Amino acid sequence: MEFETKAIHIGLDGTNKTGTATSVPLYESAAFSFNTAEELSEVFEGKRFGYVYSRISNPTITAFELRLNALEEGIGAVATASGMAAIATVIFALTEQGDEIISSESLFGGTYLFFNEVMKKYGVKINYADLNNPDSLKKLINKKTKLIFLESLSNPKLEISDLKLLSNIAKENNVPLVVDNTLTTPYLWRSKYFGADIIVHSATKYITGNGTAIGGILVDTGNYNWKNSSVDKIKELSKKAGHLAFLAAARSKIYQNIGFTPSPFNAFLHIMGLETPQLRMEKHCSNTLDLAKHLKYHKKVVNVNYPGLKENKFYEIGKKQFAGKFGGLLTFSLESKKACFKFINNLKLAKNLANLGDTRTLIIHPASTIYLNCTEEEKKSAGVSDNMIRVSVGLENINDIIEDFNQSLEKI
Ligand code: PLP
Repeated sequence: MEFETKAIHIGLDGTNKTGTATSVPLYESAAFSFNTAEELSEVFEGKRFGYVYSRISNPTITAFELRLNALEEGIGAVATASGMAAIATVIFALTEQGDEIISSESLFGGTYLFFNEVMKKYGVKINYADLNNPDSLKKLINKKTKLIFLESLSNPKLEISDLKLLSNIAKENNVPLVVDNTLTTPYLWRSKYFGADIIVHSATKYITGNGTAIGGILVDTGNYNWKNSSVDKIKELSKKAGHLAFLAAARSKIYQNIGFTPSPFNAFLHIMGLETPQLRMEKHCSNTLDLAKHLKYHKKVVNVNYPGLKENKFYEIGKKQFAGKFGGLLTFSLESKKACFKFINNLKLAKNLANLGDTRTLIIHPASTIYLNCTEEEKKSAGVSDNMIRVSVGLENINDIIEDFNQSLEKI
C-alpha cells in the first residue's frame, strides 16, 4: 500500500458481533477478562496472545502502533503517554549507569532538560556534538557510547544533519542512531532509508495535528542488528526475541515497569490524526514557505530562519532528505525582546502558546518561556535569543495569516 492508503486503513480490524466498525474502536478498559484461569495463565507465560492490562498493551493503542509503524515502514512500535516518554523509554532501554550517549547540541528544550536533569543524575554522561561537523562526532565515540541522538529538523534552531553521513560513522562504531522525527513526520521523511535505527515522535504535534492530545511513539526501523548490541540485556534478549530484542526490552523492561502508557482515548485521537498527514503537511509546508518569504522582505523583521529559503545553510540537505519540503516551523527576529512581546500581544489570529503542529497558527517567545531557566550559553546553542519568535504555521488561508502578522508588525 502507498502512504495515503496505509494512513487510512492500517490498524485494528473492528469486526465484532454488530458488524465492522469503520473507525478504530476505542477500548477504554483498564483490564481484559478471560474465561478460564488456564487461559489467563497462558497469556502471562507468553504461550497465548492476549490483552491483560492496559498499562502493558491495549487494542486501541496497538492500532495506533500498527498504523504509525506502517507509515515509518518499521518492524514495530511502542506508543507512549508523551513524546518525552518515548525518548525516555529509548534512553532507559539502551543505557545503564556509567554509559555515555552523544546528542546533537541543537535540541528541543525538554529533551535537553531530560538529559541534564534526569539521565545525568542516574550516572549517564551526555556528550553534546555539533553534528554538522562529523569529526566532532567521531572524537566523542568510545566503548561506553550507547547511542547517538538527533532531531530530523531541530526545534527551534531548524538545523538539518546529513543522516547518511552520520549513519556511516554510527555503523562503523556499532552505535545505534536515534532520530526524533517529530517536525518532519513520516510523510516528509522516511529516515529509515537514511540510516535511522530508532525513530521517536511527539505524537502531540503533527501526528494528531490539531492540538487535542499529548502522546508519543517509538519505532524500531529494523536497521540495527541487536545480536551485536553492546547493551548486555538487549544482546541477551536477542537470543529469544531475535530482531525484536530492542522492542522487547523497551516494552517489558522499561515502558510497562515505569508506566509510560498512553490512555486509549489519546491513542484514538492520534489514529484520527494519522489519517491525514499527507494533506496537512503539504499545506503546513507551503504556508510556512509563503510566510517566510513574506517576512524576509518586511522592514520590521531583522532575520528569518526557515530551511526552505534558498539562502538558508540547510536548504540543500533539506531538499535532498525531505523531498523538497521543509516543515511547518520558522523563527524570525525583531529588533528587541520588547518588540517581540508587543508583536505577540497584538496578534489577533495566531495563538500565543507552547505547542506546535496544530491546525491553528501558534506563536511563542522561546527565551522567556520554554528556555526560561537555561543559561545564556545553553540558549545560544539551542538557537534561542531574546529577540527571536517561533511560529508554527497553521492551515488557515495564508492571506489571513499574513494580514494578521502585518497588522501586528505595524504596531511595533
Ligand atoms: N521532541 C520534539 C522535537 C518536540 O518539539 C517535543 C515537544 O515540543 C518533544 C519531543 C516532546 O514531546 P511531548 O511534549 O509530547 O512530550
